[in-house]
Amino acid sequence: MNIIYADNNATTRVAPEVVEAMMPFLTAEYFNPSSMYEAARPAAAAIKAARAEIARFFGLTDPNAILFTSCASESNNAAIFGALKASPSRRHVITTAVEHPAVLGVCKELAREGCDVTFLGVDRDGNLDLGEFIRALRPDTLLVTIMHANNETGVIFPIERLSRLTKETDPAILFHTDATQSVGKLPIDLRRAFQHVDMLSFSGHKVHAPKGVGGLYVKRGARWRPYLIGGHQEEGRRAGTENVPYIVGLAKALELAAGGFDDENTRVRGLRDRLEREIEKRIPYVEFNGRGAPRLPNTLNVSCHGVEGESMLFQLSAHGICASSGSACTSGSLEASHVLKAMNVPGTAVQGSVRFSLSRYNTEADVDAIIAAFPQMVINVRRISPYWDQEKNAPRAE
Ligand code: PLP
Repeated sequence: MNIIYADNNATTRVAPEVVEAMMPFLTAEYFNPSSMYEAARPAAAAIKAARAEIARFFGLTDPNAILFTSCASESNNAAIFGALKASPSRRHVITTAVEHPAVLGVCKELAREGCDVTFLGVDRDGNLDLGEFIRALRPDTLLVTIMHANNETGVIFPIERLSRLTKETDPAILFHTDATQSVGKLPIDLRRAFQHVDMLSFSGHKVHAPKGVGGLYVKRGARWRPYLIGGHQEEGRRAGTENVPYIVGLAKALELAAGGFDDENTRVRGLRDRLEREIEKRIPYVEFNGRGAPRLPNTLNVSCHGVEGESMLFQLSAHGICASSGSACTSGSLEASHVLKAMNVPGTAVQGSVRFSLSRYNTEADVDAIIAAFPQMVINVRRISPYWDQEKNAPRAE
């Protein structure tokens, strides 16, 4: 069966150019980059070049502000726990209710350990209230950790503004953003628009590099202490022998992404918008979650009243269509998405959300195939759904 892959916010296909760049470091150049002998030099040089490439991608002049990690979850843990380690007397953290579990879970852990954590809510479109954000900043605030783009809805938070407001209130407050979903899809300049951001997390497998490599930007001079300790690598700021091939792959993937922002914002956005229009035309009682807010060009989160997202995913899967219900990490459980609950998606729709997330490898034919299959699936599921009023052909009153 032909696979139509529309789950790129969960993970992405590794680009062939990335595989090619990695190959020498999986084969002949297997040496430990810290070794002193001549044979290890190419591995060390490859890491140096990758760091410089990634720094350039973010508009940075100091490559050493980029640390390599194993994934964005590690980057988020390192950012947040590293901030707390450096300033243990400050005990207040601000985040949002719609973060990925890799931030939300860490913040809940901090709360259990006695920190005061403010979880900012969002409106029906997924936007934050700036007034509420400003009021949440306190003299004992240690850290603000707010994602750039939401993995479930694609909603983009105004990081430039939030980080500036933070520093205007108190320059000692650290600002971290989990940019795992936006890196590679939106240009990010850490010396200009994002100059007030102290730390930024990203991941290889969301940008057509492999799983198992990520990055953390830590601004020089930021009050932060290393999280993974016990080795001299990364100037002592992240212990562990460097994953040379994957680091090389990550740099190659970002180099490709830098050349692809136009495609993302025209062709991929066009595919997403057509999919959205056709679904809206063909299926009554749908909600497009996050459509009223600034949104990633590749993401479409649609809730169909009266259906369960899981049933939809099984049917989509039978047609070879890969999509998600809620985030990758919450699929597999029937617990409604914390993001959609925070957005106050109505009760008969909150369980019926499907996320389609596209990439540069998707085609018009992929969108045609989804449009051909999806509306009939919704009709089928509604026919047997306890949340659907068969007589009125409308969602059952709650
Ligand atoms: N943050 C966001 C916003 C994500 O979407 C994800 C993955 O879905 C992560 C963090 C975790 O990334 P990783 O799988 O690299 O740990």
